Amino acid sequence: MAHATVHALSTGSLTLPERFFITPADNEAKRTVPSLSFLIQHRSADGITTRLVFDLGLRRDTNLYPSVLQKHIASRSPVTTHPDAVASLAKGGLNPSDINFILFSHVHYDHVGLPSDFSSPTKFIVGPGALDLLSGKTQLNIGSHSFFEPDLLPPDRTIELPTPTTTNPILEATKPLPLKAEAATDTPLILTWSSRPLLPFKNTIDLFGDGTIYILNAPGHLPGHINLLIRTSSSSTQESPKFVLLAGDACHDIRLFTGERDIATWQDDSGRQCCIHYDIPRAKETIGRLARVQREGIETEVGGVRGEVEVVFAHNWEWEGDAVRRGRFWPGRL
Ligand SMILES: [Zn+2]
Repeated sequence: MAHATVHALSTGSLTLPERFFITPADNEAKRTVPSLSFLIQHRSADGITTRLVFDLGLRRDTNLYPSVLQKHIASRSPVTTHPDAVASLAKGGLNPSDINFILFSHVHYDHVGLPSDFSSPTKFIVGPGALDLLSGKTQLNIGSHSFFEPDLLPPDRTIELPTPTTTNPILEATKPLPLKAEAATDTPLILTWSSRPLLPFKNTIDLFGDGTIYILNAPGHLPGHINLLIRTSSSSTQESPKFVLLAGDACHDIRLFTGERDIATWQDDSGRQCCIHYDIPRAKETIGRLARVQREGIETEVGGVRGEVEVVFAHNWEWEGDAVRRGRFWPGRL
């Protein structure tokens, strides 16, 4: 039986002024938060292990960012950059070459780490629209956090997911096209949006076709923002299945998740209207879906059984503290 394990990776921290994220806010309040990444190990029914990493966090040295981002990062201090993804993976004996795929929740600087640490055959997977952001074809004028590097990812080892239909997923979905991950592993990944929605998420990809790991389209924060849903309990057990949902930057402050606060906007020094999210209505829809699955569970594909879901945001400092105490960081597991 196929199964998957999830392991938190410590990949730096930064300090977020409350007023840029929630409203109403305390103008002076700041919080140092982690920028979490995760290792996911998938073992297929025939015994093949595929290792995925979801996000890479911050770079080990802020001087490795372009100067525009270094200036922005200075406004997020204190910042910590050690351990980075490579050092965190090494704690459990893994090298960059052991990683088959790196998926990015989105391409903001605090999530992309240093992709050049991962040479061939590691492949990168990004959500729909992420490559146009990197190349500069899509321009967002919503704050100094929105700066992207055209040469971030190697074109020959990067896969961008197709755009999911938002109108009728059933009509437009095609049959899954398995994509051979040459050299890295013979495991075929399915990179086509499924025709069967995993409610309340309309656009999902059953990555291995075995119901263990799903990519969820999670729009609103940045073009190409995706989440990962991993089934962490064996499907052979009688209990209701358990899932972990890695929610990236769908929400930066848990009070947005609980509905106690609203998403902030602000004007910068030049009078520009800024927001952490590029599409506020869709960001709210995504937060709503995540809150619903945390509350009610998710409808699995097996006979309408509901699975319990633990939603984990990349910057949730309370979750991090609890995970450290419970040994959920690699080589420990969730
Ligand atoms: Zn972030």
